[in-house]
Amino acid sequence: MSSKPTAQPFRRTKIIFTLGPATESEEMLGRLILLGADIIRLNMAHATHEWTRMIIRRIRAVSARVERDVAIMMDIKGPEIRTGDVEAPIELRPGEIFDFTVKPGAERDVEIRSVHVNYQDLVNDIQVGETVLVDNGLIQLEVLEKHDTSIRCRVLVPGELKSRRHINLPGVKINLPSFTEKDRGDATVGLEEGIDFLALSFVREAADIVRLRGFLEEKKSKVRIIAKIEDRSAIRNLEEIVAGCDSIMVARGDLGIECPFEDLPVIQRRAVNSCLAHGKPVIIATHMLESMISQPVPTRAEITDVANAVYEQADCMMLSGETTVGKYPYECVEMLDKIARRIEAEDLSDFHEPAVFTTEKMKILHSAVVLANQLPQSHIVTFTRHGLMAHGLAALRPVHAAILAFTPQPQLFRQLRLLRAVEPYLMPFAPEPDATIKNAIDTLRHRGRVRSGDKLIIVTDIVSEDRLVDSVQLRTVP
Ligand code: PEP
Repeated sequence: MSSKPTAQPFRRTKIIFTLGPATESEEMLGRLILLGADIIRLNMAHATHEWTRMIIRRIRAVSARVERDVAIMMDIKGPEIRTGDVEAPIELRPGEIFDFTVKPGAERDVEIRSVHVNYQDLVNDIQVGETVLVDNGLIQLEVLEKHDTSIRCRVLVPGELKSRRHINLPGVKINLPSFTEKDRGDATVGLEEGIDFLALSFVREAADIVRLRGFLEEKKSKVRIIAKIEDRSAIRNLEEIVAGCDSIMVARGDLGIECPFEDLPVIQRRAVNSCLAHGKPVIIATHMLESMISQPVPTRAEITDVANAVYEQADCMMLSGETTVGKYPYECVEMLDKIARRIEAEDLSDFHEPAVFTTEKMKILHSAVVLANQLPQSHIVTFTRHGLMAHGLAALRPVHAAILAFTPQPQLFRQLRLLRAVEPYLMPFAPEPDATIKNAIDTLRHRGRVRSGDKLIIVTDIVSEDRLVDSVQLRTVP
């Protein structure tokens, strides 16, 4: 093997962590933000509105104190099916006959134990012989009979059934709206508090995103939509979903329940490739460092899984249980950071499908990336009001250069944290483009990010005969 490349001075792959009891203190938030977490996810399955408002304000206050802004993603639950409350956990036995009921108070066989389910159409949509998976597939039942207000099942894989457990019905087309009343209420709170991303769970087709976009337009919001790919309909309609959304999350937790396990790596690679081809950011989520919920070091297989996401050139990696209830949240973020920097020091240029260059703007951005790839000590500097330049450059996956993206918009500045290799800077633009470029170079020098002699590939609008035109310039830091 050739000599070992040193880890990169900056990390291209971004880190998202889910907030929970293990990470919600001001002290831990400050440490994780300073360590380099890019986006914080709020999982609305477990959040009250009061907590949500409190925690968003806390994140913003801590970010201001440590002088590093992060983006906030609100993950709304979409058409999620859950069991109702049980007085005490029910220990389901192998082979036991068990009922799921959809109408509280309806007559039922008192000999058979049962639980309520929040999905009225369960009895219509599921067929005898199909499977009901409870609590992330830990409990499995087979449907034996259908009745007017209940289904009767046999327990195949036993376990302890607690209150409000998540139910999966693999392969069943769920007849529930994609953006529910609960989602609308949660999202409204999020928008009022200034979130940056909305992740929509169980997206099944592009029309689901169109509905959410309609809601955001109604609210005059610039929040970006992340479509969570987590069931078979989403995989069937992957191309239209990728084309219609702002970014994708490969939500491997539910995917691993809804699809055969062995299909997961294939689905992940297809989703990443599709996003790269459409120029959309992609997040790899769930079980990246699962063993670190209780252990201070990851398994060798987890290290390789994280490395694989970096090799595939995903934009982000996401932690869930590791940072909500885990014992080592700081070490988990540190571990992702360390593995990503090491793998990024390898040559990753073969690992992706090129983005499609349909527009003239993309062709110009492509020429900037080609130039950057030929000048190893270079940086790409761009100026972006709506994020188009930064998105396009990130989609083209420059091999060595960082994309130093300047914007005057605070929300866009935070949203740019999602993009691979993009380092966002918040800076007002001067009326003259040349003055803006000079201010940007001064900022980068002042922060020690560039040095005299570094090559800068500057991608920006310039005024030419009273019109703005795209330009690519090569400058040397004086
Ligand atoms: C997943 O299923 O992987 C996921 C991220 O979604 P949730 O945590 O909402 O189940």
